[in-house]
Amino acid sequence: MKPRHVLTAGFVVLLAVLPWLVGSYGRTLLDYIGLATIVVLGLVLLTGVGGLTSFGQAAFVGMGAYTSAYLCTAQGWSPWWGLLAALVLVTLAALVLGWVTLRMSGHFLPLSTLAWGLSIYLVFGNVQAIGGQTGMSGIAPISVLGVKLSTALQYHYLIWGVVLLIVWTVHNMLDSREGRAMRALKGGTLMAEAMGVNTTRFKTILFVLAAQYACVSGWLYAHMQGFVNPTPFSLGQGIEYLFMGVVGGIGDLWGAVLGSSLYSLLRQWLQDLLPHLLGRSGNFEDLVFGVLMILILQRAPEGLWARVRALGARWNPAATLAPRPSAPVLAERARPAAGELVLQVRELTKRFGGLVANNAISFEVRAGEVLALIGPNGAGKSTLFNCISQVDRASAGEVRFRDRAVHRLDARAVAALGMSRTFQHVRLLPRMSVLDNVALGAHLRGHHSFVASAWRLDRAQEASIQATAWQQLERCGLAEHAHAPAGSLPLGLQRVVEIARALATDPCLLLLDEPAAGLRYLEKRNLAQLLDQLRGQGLAILLVEHDLDFVMGLADRVVAMDFGEKIAEGLPREVQKHPAVIEAYLGGLDEPQATREPEGQAA
Ligand code: ADP
Ligand code: MG
Repeated sequence: MKPRHVLTAGFVVLLAVLPWLVGSYGRTLLDYIGLATIVVLGLVLLTGVGGLTSFGQAAFVGMGAYTSAYLCTAQGWSPWWGLLAALVLVTLAALVLGWVTLRMSGHFLPLSTLAWGLSIYLVFGNVQAIGGQTGMSGIAPISVLGVKLSTALQYHYLIWGVVLLIVWTVHNMLDSREGRAMRALKGGTLMAEAMGVNTTRFKTILFVLAAQYACVSGWLYAHMQGFVNPTPFSLGQGIEYLFMGVVGGIGDLWGAVLGSSLYSLLRQWLQDLLPHLLGRSGNFEDLVFGVLMILILQRAPEGLWARVRALGARWNPAATLAPRPSAPVLAERARPAAGELVLQVRELTKRFGGLVANNAISFEVRAGEVLALIGPNGAGKSTLFNCISQVDRASAGEVRFRDRAVHRLDARAVAALGMSRTFQHVRLLPRMSVLDNVALGAHLRGHHSFVASAWRLDRAQEASIQATAWQQLERCGLAEHAHAPAGSLPLGLQRVVEIARALATDPCLLLLDEPAAGLRYLEKRNLAQLLDQLRGQGLAILLVEHDLDFVMGLADRVVAMDFGEKIAEGLPREVQKHPAVIEAYLGGLDEPQATREPEGQAA
């Protein structure tokens, strides 16, 4: 048994005996902590995993509570049918809200959740059919296996059972193909989409899941209390949920448990203690509490759980290092035969306002060929890459990939066809392991959904994805770094991780934007060997490179660009001697690589 499992088992045992060790007051408090934890777990998904902020979770809690309360009191439904109806309603509301807000970036989502939280709260207080400000009472208790739950102790086991179920399923979900895609949202949509991840879909899933957990919490609350009124579903409460998550550690499921426990206990303790100390009651506890929270955040900006985790890592550093699974690697696609035309760029033009970054560029790349794109900084090479991989739209011209016009497709569709790329400015998920970063590349090669992974029905496929990621790491000489956080590697090696991730997509065409930048001499030689070997296996490779030595030894053909124009094309030796190229490179004295490289002959 791993130490992690021992700790989890210990926590479960503690939860089971705790209500017997505290009084009735403590039991009620425990129930409330559990209810808050359920909401905060949703925020861990939404904010910690997806990087999306919501202040409006209390509104979803209220919808869960009110929907079931109304159906059970006014319509005589059973609480379980009430839960189902509440979940359907909350899901629809979250889908509509998500559809409107999630495709926009920046502050749009947080602001709209504020508006949403405010308006739903007003609805609760002003609709007479659900009791207005007085609310509703006489809500039936929940029955489990024929037993009507009536005590805080009975609800304790139901509520904390739900907490544990959510922790377990979410943990499984995050440790899977679609879970990695969810975690990739934080790296920005550009990279994730280029790996075939539908970022809008995953943002929506996270938003809906968080709303559903809030709904379940509200449902439990309403039936446990037997009455509801609008107060606990205010915007202020929504902000408190977010606070609990941040204090505990929004990046971790156990951070949710820690945050809501600590927050609730501290608040309760201050409410009891301060009036005694000051000899009068008032809202001093709010003030002291606020200051305390700010202090905690200042000491542990990533939440308290991050501290616990760091302690655990020091105590048992090798706890999480899984060995390479022995599962078979994923099947590879049929690739074009060597010499077959893979990529055709015809008259591609890209304008940024008045600036013509690419002017009617044409060239071709064949399977089993390395084509190098050279040119000084600002020549338009990265722009061309973006337009080929459909990360950006060309203003005019045509891109054909494996005999299909792809310039109207999106980046995901192009990735699915077998074109993969790296980025000039490395786009890895710095906290995720090198292995997981590479496994993200295999996203489109699996099919199990997050629902299947939540219940661990995807394990065989996940093992194959991991084995494939290992295979690419070994191929690129990165196996020793598999478990290191990608951000801890030197920048040059991070570029190689990007190549491994691109290879994990099983591509026919690789687009590499300055792969050798930042590599040392020996590492460059290894990279050249790897690319040579990939070419031998029939891959088409298009690479942008500054180091002319590197290019001359490796490329089959070279295309040179300057100021958005193609100035030369041909065999490396020919292009190197081309007057326009010499002029571009000698004229481009602000071009750092060409002058800095000791072994690079700039002209
Ligand atoms: P290279 O990769 O060859 O160094 P780039 O393709 O990055 O060159 O840039 C080509 C030109 O296009 C530069 O003048 C750059 O400032 C401009 N450019 C690139 N991206 C944008 C953008 N998103 N908006 C406006 N101008 C851009
Ligand atoms: Mg560039």
